[in-house]
Amino acid sequence: MRLSNRCYAVTGLGYSAPWCVNAGFLVGDNLTLVVDTGGNTLAAQTVHGYASAVRPRNQLRVINTEKHFDHIGGNGFFRDRGIDVWGHVGIMRTPDEFQTEITEFNDAIPNDARRARGEARAFFHGTYLANPNCQIDCDTRFDLGGCTVEILLTPGHTATNLSVWVPEDEVLFTGDCLISGYLPNLDAGTPADWRVWIESLERIASLNPAIVVAGHGPVARGDEVHVLVDTVMQVLEESIARGYSPTAERAE
Ligand SMILES: [Zn+2]
Repeated sequence: MRLSNRCYAVTGLGYSAPWCVNAGFLVGDNLTLVVDTGGNTLAAQTVHGYASAVRPRNQLRVINTEKHFDHIGGNGFFRDRGIDVWGHVGIMRTPDEFQTEITEFNDAIPNDARRARGEARAFFHGTYLANPNCQIDCDTRFDLGGCTVEILLTPGHTATNLSVWVPEDEVLFTGDCLISGYLPNLDAGTPADWRVWIESLERIASLNPAIVVAGHGPVARGDEVHVLVDTVMQVLEESIARGYSPTAERAE
């Protein structure tokens, strides 16, 4: 979906139901920056197809907004085409972690026959772990040709989270620093991490974006942006006060 002059969102890429995941891309005069690659190679093919079609002569570059596999699973498809993938220096995942993700994905299939058949293999067909080959440890700018974008470290959900800000179009891609419609996933952190997350949200709010592409769920525009930020902020504040995540599985 086209969001602005230079920005596009690719929403609704598959992951474990009812979760779908978002990606997007920004088209400069020379370089098209892809934000996240979806959870598997099938998603990456979709993102790559759209990103290549808008300005076919542009070089492509990828940036990952975080370390979780729903955002980096398609990296291998891009690396196979010689496309650089950028990400936070702490993002590096291991093949064992990826295998555990596939096993957990399969274990979550409700139907016995489909689970026994290992249908997670179909979802991850042609997918392999590919970590970023270019690393970032501080805020960075990319010149896409006629358009400069800012890569902002926005930790909290994980230490590796970053956001992509396009000042000229007032569009912000936040990864899972913001989640739209779903409860945010606090399970990867502690109350100390959630306080850091709140600081990242305050930074995001201060940009006053007109359009936000969250890591998951519908794109937010105009007044919806403030509602989105406030909703995630409230979940974080309640969780800090309570000391545990709203989705934590706790013994009675
Ligand atoms: Zn995610």
